Amino acid sequence: MRKIALIYTGGTIGMRQNERGKLAPMDFASVAEKIPALQLLPIEILPVTLENPIDSSEMVPQVWQELAEVIDGLMDQVDGMVVLHGTDTMAYTACALSFMFEGLQKPIIITGSQLPVGVLRTDAVENIVSAFEFAALTEEDGSAVIQEVAIYFEYELLRGNRAYKRSSNEFNAFSSPNYPPLASSGVRLSVNKELLWRSKKTYALKSGIDTSVGVVTLYPGLDFDQLPHLPHWRVLVLRTFGAGNAPKSPSFLEFLKRVEKNGTIIVNTSQCVSGSVLPGLYDSSSALEEVKMLNAKDMTFESALVKSMVLLGQGNSVADFHIKFPLSLAGEVSE
Ligand code: ASP
Repeated sequence: MRKIALIYTGGTIGMRQNERGKLAPMDFASVAEKIPALQLLPIEILPVTLENPIDSSEMVPQVWQELAEVIDGLMDQVDGMVVLHGTDTMAYTACALSFMFEGLQKPIIITGSQLPVGVLRTDAVENIVSAFEFAALTEEDGSAVIQEVAIYFEYELLRGNRAYKRSSNEFNAFSSPNYPPLASSGVRLSVNKELLWRSKKTYALKSGIDTSVGVVTLYPGLDFDQLPHLPHWRVLVLRTFGAGNAPKSPSFLEFLKRVEKNGTIIVNTSQCVSGSVLPGLYDSSSALEEVKMLNAKDMTFESALVKSMVLLGQGNSVADFHIKFPLSLAGEVSE
């Protein structure tokens, strides 16, 4: 029988109304009690709770590190993990885990729900049960079918670092616009095996994170003269328009030059969730060609941001960052 850890970090899935009438995380025993289906699964479940279950909008990189260390500690004892997590920052956590773990050979499937587990129309039960089934899927040689960090939600298994939260009220809360679903669950589970990530690296957890990453979102009317650039930013993630476009305005170029002079690496990511950054396509973007800029191509914003934090946290020099950022480290970008 496959043995899968169930790691509870918090989120709506395990919430109930507190004395102030607000949704807040409950303890894991109360969550498990409300899902009798867990006992019916032909899987040995090892329940683990993070010290302090949170609403995922409270997520901080220290919790990613705590979670990664818990997972690392369990890696030899189990065949895979199911992580219960709030939906608000689930995609960021999926990115963080996908970059912190190298050479994964076991599944880390993150799931949650839009309605708490005890509520009549909850989506929690299907999400948890299918997440377990995917985590327990085995090849004939005994190896795990899924060997990466994935998000399971509403009948689809998505690559974690390709997903983003698209809806706060639909059950279909996540989307992976630039990479097809790894698998889907209908009457049967169906896996698109040619899409699965396989790492050639040896297993290692590299849990360093450096949050000195700034984000600037372009919008019509943004006053570049007033735009602060914080000197401690080691990376600036610039959220440009469309295919990576930006205005020609001299004050924008001056802003970019100030950032560059500060030694900050600039990453160009688009505000469009679907498609890729294509530098140089439009004349109006010529300011962007005046400075050295990394192209996030079809990475999600979440992925570009968290990848920057992890690459900095792993102690990469500016030169190494420039080499590694464009590469697909965990299937997050099309090469
Ligand atoms: N605020 C909740 C959280 O992210 C939302 C959810 O779980 O759906 O923890």
